[in-house]
Amino acid sequence: MLSITPGAYTLVALSKYPYDIGGEKVVVSPEQEHPKKAFGWATRYSSGVLSPFRFSRRATGENDVTFKVLYCGICHTDLHIVKNEWGLSTYPLIPGHEIVGVATEVGSKVEKLKVGDHVGVGYMIGACQSCDSCSNNAENYCPEMIPTSGAKYHDGTTTYGGYSDFMVANEHFVVHVPDNLPLHGAAPLLCAGVTTYSPLSRDDGQMKAALGTMDGIIDTVSAVHPLLPLIGLLKNNGKLVLVGAPEKPLELPVFPLLMGRKIVAGSVVGGMKETQEMIDFAGKHNITANVEVIPVDYVNTAMERLIKTDVTYRFVIDIANTLKSTS
Ligand SMILES: [Zn+2]
Ligand SMILES: [Zn+2]
Repeated sequence: MLSITPGAYTLVALSKYPYDIGGEKVVVSPEQEHPKKAFGWATRYSSGVLSPFRFSRRATGENDVTFKVLYCGICHTDLHIVKNEWGLSTYPLIPGHEIVGVATEVGSKVEKLKVGDHVGVGYMIGACQSCDSCSNNAENYCPEMIPTSGAKYHDGTTTYGGYSDFMVANEHFVVHVPDNLPLHGAAPLLCAGVTTYSPLSRDDGQMKAALGTMDGIIDTVSAVHPLLPLIGLLKNNGKLVLVGAPEKPLELPVFPLLMGRKIVAGSVVGGMKETQEMIDFAGKHNITANVEVIPVDYVNTAMERLIKTDVTYRFVIDIANTLKSTS
């Protein structure tokens, strides 16, 4: 397999496309950054408006899985990052981290997946894989965790998300999606699913048994909202776990917490082991998300509907049938 270092990419690209040979920093266009031509929908700046976008992805490395994207869910987080509401986004930005598809190529050292497998990528696409969090299957809490879109790989190149024709990812960050699950309904499990599964599975029986009662509440709301009514619903010793990420701080009423010895906690997605467990659990019990499948050119309208909370089911983009390169 051809192996090219990040440094070599820059040289190859520079010899063909000297965008900035005089400057300190060599600017390589998204189309020339990597050897494989790719296509998706991106936003160019914080307006958040998405449109067709040509870019590139790396060749399949020895530990990588390349897959054709079939469906990608629209998470509320996508809305936050396309508009840079958390202040961390880099542009151009392709959102999407509830990505499912079919493996088309696997590297020589890939063990757990093969060509033809149904696979998925969720919120993260990399981590240091050596810190305490990574060693304890909690890559989601790694200080060097790399989000699937709008971030940078360790080599400085951009991570582009799943509103695109194909993905390349290290197999550690790719889950195997059980064959019996319909892929459009499985897509949202990769972020929304594991986000709610993770605090549930961590809470020793007590919370599992309490599902549907008010011993525990998983608050998935991603916009500013009052916590007092939720805290009021908890029994004494109850736990409110926040998994949504509003763009502004929430007001925390302390008095009712003290009076009931109640706990407010946070949780973000899940580790890779947990993500695989979650989707296997979903496969075993035939659990999928209720979804509204949309064509990719509906994505801006979908985002507007998300802002207006005019959504009944999770939006999932039918990438395979509707994403078409214009050339
Ligand atoms: Zn998400
Ligand atoms: Zn780590």
